[in-house]
Amino acid sequence: MNIILLGAPGSGKGTQAQFIIKEYGIKRISTGDILRSSSKKNNILGKKITSIIKQGKLVSDKIVIQLIEDSIKKHSSKGFLLDGFPRTVFQAIALKQTLIKIDHVIDLIISNDEIIKRITGRLMHVPSGRIYHKVYNPPKYNHKDDITGDDLICREDDNEYIIKNRLSEYYKFNKLLINFYTKESQLNNLSYNQVNANSSIITINQKLKKILD
Ligand code: AMP
Repeated sequence: MNIILLGAPGSGKGTQAQFIIKEYGIKRISTGDILRSSSKKNNILGKKITSIIKQGKLVSDKIVIQLIEDSIKKHSSKGFLLDGFPRTVFQAIALKQTLIKIDHVIDLIISNDEIIKRITGRLMHVPSGRIYHKVYNPPKYNHKDDITGDDLICREDDNEYIIKNRLSEYYKFNKLLINFYTKESQLNNLSYNQVNANSSIITINQKLKKILD
């Protein structure tokens, strides 16, 4: 089963992805994680990506598509969950051109107030991409990953100033993306569902399972 999880930054894509990949035995592919890892390389591309992420802007379609192509093509036979990709119609078309069938597109809808609350308390385990929240989904031990015990970090772009740019980038491209997948769901065998993501992690998870089962 191949799934796309859409939604604004802070809508809970990463958190829900953790549950879904466990439940259905599929692989999570996060462009945010791939880009953060590329940004650590001390080369021109790495520096360019770092600067764009720090501004809360979108990395160019060309770079993102190049970086994600391999992960998608090498995905496991059970399927994958795309977290943070596609973010533009150009990326959606590139994905369609791989001829890999997408079964579900789930769009997490959330208010801006809730986004700010979630973003400002978010903690991350960088090597695995596991996401926690200081209040809504705290780790067992303060600032430590539940599985490895490694330190958790607050993402540099998870602050009120940068989130404003990230949201404005999201709203700039999102309407066209919704139109694209609404049409795809009418023409092809793909389901597109919007899910109210203002509720608790468990409630959202139950809604997602209902769609996917
Ligand atoms: P995320 O971890 O999904 O919140 O992504 C963090 C940052 O990586 C975003 O603010 C963008 O700068 C960049 N990014 C992630 N995915 C994409 C994408 N599909 N297209 C362009 N930029 C992306």
